[in-house]
Amino acid sequence: MGSGPGSSAACIFCDIAEHRASAHIVYEDASTVAFLDLFPYTRGHLLVIPKRHGARITELPFDDQIALVRTLDEICRRVERLTSDYHVSLNAGAKAGQVVFHVHLHVIPRYTEENPFLGPGRNRLRDDDARELLRELSAG
Ligand code: AMP
Ligand code: ZN
Repeated sequence: MGSGPGSSAACIFCDIAEHRASAHIVYEDASTVAFLDLFPYTRGHLLVIPKRHGARITELPFDDQIALVRTLDEICRRVERLTSDYHVSLNAGAKAGQVVFHVHLHVIPRYTEENPFLGPGRNRLRDDDARELLRELSAG
């Protein structure tokens, strides 16, 4: 059951934002969190979320939208330590592929021209890979 401001019951990303569920968090501030995607398309695939629950970006107050983009910028700067090339994407609605109905921006690094979205199934992030990525993507 969500307990923070604007949280929602039975939402895994609210649980992560409020530290009730574990995640590999690379950045956090008063209104946003960024963490490693558990089933990455590519190495360093990250999600940026508002702490406030909303299924889609148009449900968020303006200040949370601004905070989300600020954190996106911070995360893109860190991803540029891994590679200069990446996608930023947002799936809104089931037909667009949204599976978790708490707004999130995907940041998906690209290392080759091979399309990561057409490849074989995604593997679960390994703990040792996650630890190494957290080192590479940490502040400073
Ligand atoms: P979407 O299809 O845009 O809703 O994407 C949801 C993303 O959340 C997928 O890429 C999942 O791999 C990812 N995901 C789901 N649960 C978790 C979790 N507990 N921790 C990290 N990533 C998750
Ligand atoms: Zn939520």
